Amino acid sequence: MSEYEELKARLFNKKECGWENLREEEKTKIDTFGNEYIYFLNKCKTEREAVEFSKEILQKNGFVDLREKPTLMPGDKVYYINRAKSVYVAVIGTDTLETGLNIVGAHIDSPRLDLKPNPLYEDSELAFFKTHYYGGIKKYQWTTIPLAIHGVIVKANGEKVEIKIGEDETDPIFTITDLLPHLAQDQMEKKLKNGIDGEDLNLLVGSIPYDKEITEAVKLNILNILNEKYGITEVDFTSSELELVPAMPCRSMGFDSSMVAGYGQDDKICVYASLTALMKIDNPKKTAVCIISDKEEIGSMGNTGMESHVFDTFIAEILNKMGINKPNLLDKVFCKSKMLSADVDAALDPIYASVSERNNASYLGKGVGLNKYTGARGKSGASDANAEFVAEIRHIFENNNVKYQVSELGKVDVGGGGTIAYILANKGVDVIDCGVPILSMHSPYEVSSKFDLYSAYQGYIAFWKN
Ligand code: MN
Ligand code: MN
Repeated sequence: MSEYEELKARLFNKKECGWENLREEEKTKIDTFGNEYIYFLNKCKTEREAVEFSKEILQKNGFVDLREKPTLMPGDKVYYINRAKSVYVAVIGTDTLETGLNIVGAHIDSPRLDLKPNPLYEDSELAFFKTHYYGGIKKYQWTTIPLAIHGVIVKANGEKVEIKIGEDETDPIFTITDLLPHLAQDQMEKKLKNGIDGEDLNLLVGSIPYDKEITEAVKLNILNILNEKYGITEVDFTSSELELVPAMPCRSMGFDSSMVAGYGQDDKICVYASLTALMKIDNPKKTAVCIISDKEEIGSMGNTGMESHVFDTFIAEILNKMGINKPNLLDKVFCKSKMLSADVDAALDPIYASVSERNNASYLGKGVGLNKYTGARGKSGASDANAEFVAEIRHIFENNNVKYQVSELGKVDVGGGGTIAYILANKGVDVIDCGVPILSMHSPYEVSSKFDLYSAYQGYIAFWKN
């Protein structure tokens, strides 16, 4: 190596591809973990399903519902499920909670189409469900793909009917039609964002009339089928939460199987990495907390979103059950706490590289991504992590051989994105965004790297063990 090359090797931030110089057994570990993640993703397309799956993992690993524990001791492992849609988990540390918590927080909701409260109608002897999309989607991506219906219908008497149609190979699936190119001259002249109207995202659900002689016979036939199968009538849709998700399995991707392709990786990839990481934590010094929140994609509002005070109540209840709570303590605990906001990052897509700035983009396969801030146009709305805290996280990752990359989300006047980081930062917690870079984010079929998933898993373990 020449003198210059040596100097370069010593001084430059190398930003190497994570797959280089990996031992065979490490590659196998990464692939196995990636395949377990694929299994999880296929089982958990909605927040309710992900909560159920998380509960199973927690109980298998000795975690107990916080409400069942009258008192708490260091080493105890507890969780709280908030309305079947979000989960807070803690492993009580040996240091007093007054020294702060180490939190990793991800979200389980993903962009999708929800059914409207009065979804069913008939037009031209075809039956449809009206939808209202959830989160930021490119509407055209949701037509002409197989869709499944997942969710619950709750009858006025409280009886809950669980629905999941379109996942089993023997199930029917559903789809939203689009216009044939031959007749789409006007549509094709429109701007891409106006190509499909929100009110045109109507799901085709049936075409056989109940009887020829009556009006709305196809709608009646659908209601009759649903009544026989689930005991519901049309009005029961008004108290339902039914979500349309891609009826396509998540798969290993590429000739080298290095990637994962599938729906809902924003942000279930960080949910999986953090939850499985927490299962490796026993008797930490600082209390280890894992947040699995809901409603991030629509602004974290509501009683299952991160803006609600239910999480504060969870921590306050832990302080109560440890017998140490006193006025103001919760605020002080938050001011001393540290958090990795575990949410996906936008990986540079070489096909659309013009929206990113190469020196400050994250790349598939270069490790877990750290975003010091996520705002754009003058860092607007950003939670900007302090340099001291970024250094602390770097130190932990470097000491534990966790591959990481530090990036921004897109160009200065182009990018930006929100996570739950600012919500905890506003309570006084030191927070940095730390998640997995993704391609085709918010699409029905997102892409991630198994290497980055594994780096996130290792990073969260290192953070909690530190
Ligand atoms: Mn996200
Ligand atoms: Mn998102």
